[in-house]
Amino acid sequence: MYPNILRHPGPTPIPKKVQLAMAQDMISHRTEEFVRLYQETIQRVKPIFGTKQDILLLPSGGTAALEAAAVNTVSSGEEVVVITVGAFGDYFVSICEKYGFIVHKLEKKWGEACTEEDLIEFLKPLSNIKAVFATYNETSTGILNPIDKLANVVRTYTNALFVVDGVSCIGGAPAEMDEWGIDILVTGSQKAMMLPPGLSLLSVSERAWEVIETNRTPAYYLNLLSYREWATKGMTPNTPTISLIMGLSAVCDLIDEEGGFSKTVERHQLMKNMVREAMKALSIGLLTSDEYASPTITAIRTPEGLELSAFLPHLKKKYHLDLAGGLGHLQGNIFRFGHMGYCFPSDILQAVSLIEAGLQDFAYPFEPGAGVKAAQNVFLSDLRK
Ligand SMILES: *Cc1c(COP(=O)(O)O)cnc(C)c1O
Repeated sequence: MYPNILRHPGPTPIPKKVQLAMAQDMISHRTEEFVRLYQETIQRVKPIFGTKQDILLLPSGGTAALEAAAVNTVSSGEEVVVITVGAFGDYFVSICEKYGFIVHKLEKKWGEACTEEDLIEFLKPLSNIKAVFATYNETSTGILNPIDKLANVVRTYTNALFVVDGVSCIGGAPAEMDEWGIDILVTGSQKAMMLPPGLSLLSVSERAWEVIETNRTPAYYLNLLSYREWATKGMTPNTPTISLIMGLSAVCDLIDEEGGFSKTVERHQLMKNMVREAMKALSIGLLTSDEYASPTITAIRTPEGLELSAFLPHLKKKYHLDLAGGLGHLQGNIFRFGHMGYCFPSDILQAVSLIEAGLQDFAYPFEPGAGVKAAQNVFLSDLRK
């Protein structure tokens, strides 16, 4: 009876308007109707990526799109740099290693960002790097890497392509793919894009296409050249996730309704600030510094003396608040509060209030209402701007 309050870093809640759009009658992907849907939708998604290039739509999870980015640009035996600041950076490492790329791993402690100084220093002894892979938003730690600055470093110091995993932030974080000099930008449907899982979106720069044209790694289903060829006809090489593309069109309507994508980005910033101020007011620690804090997900340290493996299920069972735990070695040490996509300041007030209720149940010492008040103050001062 009670709705599940899903505050995970994906999958995330689906707006009613998107659900209804996805419930439309099925159409064939080899019809004029589809071509119109595809072409219009792609035009409308471009501002979210900050690109003039086409957006390719793959019928897959985010991982397949990352794999596509890797196999289409690099061949086995070639050298790459992978920047990893958490579990999803490690994903990229695994993909590259699987295909026999020589991986130079720039690793940072979980909870830290990779800075431009880190990257400049790391690149110094290296030459012959074919691609640099990076995670924009590290979902396991709530870090937003300074991807614009990292792109600039790659541009300045190498001839490598810069490939970015934006799966858990594109749709909620600023992205200027062309201006910043990102060569491939990837995202998935089920994080900040307000859609169910199953569709990934990927855009490729002119420079990257030139590399892809001569790359030797074989790929069939994930061959981006066939995507490019079919896109000229307003289609995809195989059957696309048609319902999800109908949903994507509705997502673009919602962003227009909000006042354009920059407003969507501002809302995510506001929600981030609300969550962080609330936790500070409760004297609960945050994993990351404010400087590199993600606008879509906040990693919160387990409050002193609290058993997280009991607390999170309690919040879910008693208050229907569904938060995510930590990954890897952070399991038990942090929990993750997703605030991406179809999530609003009112949802933050609700979740903070329920976290406080749970803390009272666990006899955690704090002043009830302090977190809500802090979040509300952030919200109100934003409204007065
Ligand atoms: C979720 C996620 C992925 C993987 O996406 P799937 O759709 O689960 O394959 C990759 N990178 C990041 C940063 C993610 O958050």
